[in-house]
Amino acid sequence: AARESGVALLHFNAGMAAHYTERLQLAGRIHIAIDRGEFLLHFQPIMDAAEGSPVALEALLRWPQLDGSFIPPADFIQLCEDTGLIIALGRWVIHAAARAQQQLSAAGWQHLPIAVNVSAVQLFNSDLVGEFSRAMQDHGLARGALQMELTESVLMRNPTQALQTLGHLHANGVGVALDDFGTGFSSMSYLQHLPLDSLKIDRGFVTDVESNPRNAAICRALLSLGHSMGLSVIAEGVETEGQRRWLAAHGCDQVQGYLLGRPMPLEQVLAMLDESRSA
Ligand code: C2E
Ligand code: CA
Ligand code: CA
Ligand code: CA
Repeated sequence: AARESGVALLHFNAGMAAHYTERLQLAGRIHIAIDRGEFLLHFQPIMDAAEGSPVALEALLRWPQLDGSFIPPADFIQLCEDTGLIIALGRWVIHAAARAQQQLSAAGWQHLPIAVNVSAVQLFNSDLVGEFSRAMQDHGLARGALQMELTESVLMRNPTQALQTLGHLHANGVGVALDDFGTGFSSMSYLQHLPLDSLKIDRGFVTDVESNPRNAAICRALLSLGHSMGLSVIAEGVETEGQRRWLAAHGCDQVQGYLLGRPMPLEQVLAMLDESRSA
């Protein structure tokens, strides 16, 4: 039986060959795009849930194509993680976010941190602490100017090393948010020991929070859990005023979503911020 399954594993058909060739070609294109500096960051505002004032920006990767369209991160991040390309791309993201924060600071928004998404490969197989320090130093940023977002599943891969690296980042003034909260299976006793600053409730629970009693109960539980651990809670995917009102009424600290603003180029963020200041 062992022999048979071995043969089955080695069975390689034309469909699989095409699939791997495609992935290999895409990986090659990504490599070239990193070298040529073709990637961009867009920034999405995170607002105070009650006041509506901006409190942070999330940096989101965009890969523009010649026809003006964008390849969404969902179509290339996984491949970048599988091939290790995410280390070079992630390094670029950290430095580009730092450069953007420097521009924000120059415009009077030094207290508006930029949050960067970080993959497991970056956390465990690169000098993340050094990368953040260098980026902050190169762009003259103060403590707290950069944050990072990690998912639960990333942390659970190697809790001991995660705890150590997060501790160093925290000591260097890089805040940490737990992304897509509620979709993983972290043990609460473990989370309690991590140097976290905030939790982000996944969009999946926010979408129908007003009409789905089950999701409303989950949001209430996540809010209470976050607050009892001394963390601020951010809801993502907020698209309607009804959702924002429900979240604010239930003590949610910050909101992010199309209602408050789509991910956009930095110039557009600066224009939006200027307007909010004069309002
Ligand atoms: P995420 O970190 O959960 O980011 C939130 C996603 O929700 C973004 O998709 C954002 O554009 C989208 N979004 C925000 N507000 C709304 C809303 O109101 N409604 C709906 N329907 N969607 C909303 P995006 O930009 O396509 O990114 C997808 C995922 O790709 C991110 O999920 C993140 O996991 C990953 N990603 C993006 N940029 C980076 C990066 O620089 N590094 C790494 N490692 N991953 C990244
Ligand atoms: Ca995120
Ligand atoms: Ca998220
Ligand atoms: Ca998500």
